[in-house]
Amino acid sequence: MASPDRSAFVRLDAALVDAVQVGLVVIGRDDRIIRVNPAFCVWTGFEPAVLIGERPPYPFCPGGEQRTRFERRWREVRAGASGYFEVTVGHRDGRLLEAAVAGAPVHDGDGRVVGYVATYRDMSAVAAQVRLERALSDVAAAVADPGALFDRIAVCLAELFGAPSAAVVRFENSRGIIVGADAHPSVPLPGELPLSEPSAIAKVASTGRPAREEYATAESEFARRARAAGLRSAVAVPVRLDSTLWGCLGVISDQPGGLPDDTEQRLGRVADLVSVALASAGAWSQLHRQATTDGLTGLLNHRAFNERLGIERRRAIRHRRPLALAMFDIDGFKAVNDTRGHQAGDRVLQTVAQAFAKQARAGDVPARLGGDEFAVIASDTDAAAALSLAERLRACAVHALAEAGLPLTLSCGVSDFSAAETVDDLVRSADRALYQAKRQGRNDTVRYTPGVAAEPSYELTLRE
Ligand code: GH3
Ligand code: MG
Repeated sequence: MASPDRSAFVRLDAALVDAVQVGLVVIGRDDRIIRVNPAFCVWTGFEPAVLIGERPPYPFCPGGEQRTRFERRWREVRAGASGYFEVTVGHRDGRLLEAAVAGAPVHDGDGRVVGYVATYRDMSAVAAQVRLERALSDVAAAVADPGALFDRIAVCLAELFGAPSAAVVRFENSRGIIVGADAHPSVPLPGELPLSEPSAIAKVASTGRPAREEYATAESEFARRARAAGLRSAVAVPVRLDSTLWGCLGVISDQPGGLPDDTEQRLGRVADLVSVALASAGAWSQLHRQATTDGLTGLLNHRAFNERLGIERRRAIRHRRPLALAMFDIDGFKAVNDTRGHQAGDRVLQTVAQAFAKQARAGDVPARLGGDEFAVIASDTDAAAALSLAERLRACAVHALAEAGLPLTLSCGVSDFSAAETVDDLVRSADRALYQAKRQGRNDTVRYTPGVAAEPSYELTLRE
């Protein structure tokens, strides 16, 4: 029998690589990219010529912490194991894509490793859908902060539609109140929209039907700003509650083609889910509040803080903005309880909470984590800026306490995502900086640096 035609197999291989719908990257032992298939190039927006021959960091590797994760995963494959993992990939236009990657070494006839092959499957839509469903089931179960929930829905919408901006809007007395938003950093969404100005949202309010707006031709002030920031078009669809028009969902696109034709239909399906969730949530609104606010101070409680931090984290990643955390603990608080009674102690906590709530800027979220420990999530803020924010908050709290005849100080630790990979890391690093501030003599703010990493956690030592 004739031996198989080897070149025919090679051609077949090549045709298969080109035809498969998953992204495929072949890498040599020296980590250079040898081959990419069309599916990968279309998905990431990079031409093959830009990728072939590249060594890490590859052009589709996102920056910062995402890169560290990507590279760590890739090293595991390099170490010989076949691996399946989820990573974030950077599109050429800057968008972040979520991918399920399967990586494996390629062996030659003698069993030697000659390279590596990785398949990339786009998981962005799946991941966004899962998050959206989770957010909606939380609305229905009435277990989380409604404000945060609408933000969560907005973030999910932006992810789901690959849009730089999305909003949940509630109609009230001929105004559109933006109850949840994931806004483009240079085009912040206003707190509310007058429905008298033309917009997709105003059209939904007047017709009760889905509406579309092209910023190239639109005349409103918002449209002008949106156009200047490269945003192109918006789609809004109604949300009904008990057959009345409750509000709408909106997404804004910066893609040249604008939002695809089926956007109204897809967004409409999400709106139906939001309606169902709202209907069951209405009866539980009181529980909402109890579940998420701290009874003594009215600030977010620990659980709502965790949820909020997760949302802000995703928003910060999407918009590539910094995010910082400041953690505070009152100095010598126990002595107030011991010498002046528990009620005086409670007044201290309330005074600090009021000072924080008053001083917080729009992007700051104060919370009481428990006992005499507070935190402020500072969006769009790096650790250096958070340091001065923390100093301002401390000074304000100390002043208010003195005025109330309760002369006490606070210590603070700050950190941001330049020093942390996950939300848990961020909390841990801020907590360690706080411990350092206490050790250094209290009444001070310390910014986390790896140097303080060796110290035990402040929280942990409290528990011991
Ligand atoms: P340090 O400077 O190290 O922070 O010392 P401290 O005295 O402030 O010690 P610590 O932070 O451990 O004090 C926490 C105390 O807060 C212990 C607990 O009795 C008290 N506490 C916790 N929750 C409440 C509350 O709701 N009301 C009052 N009045 N006290 C509380
Ligand atoms: Mg304390």
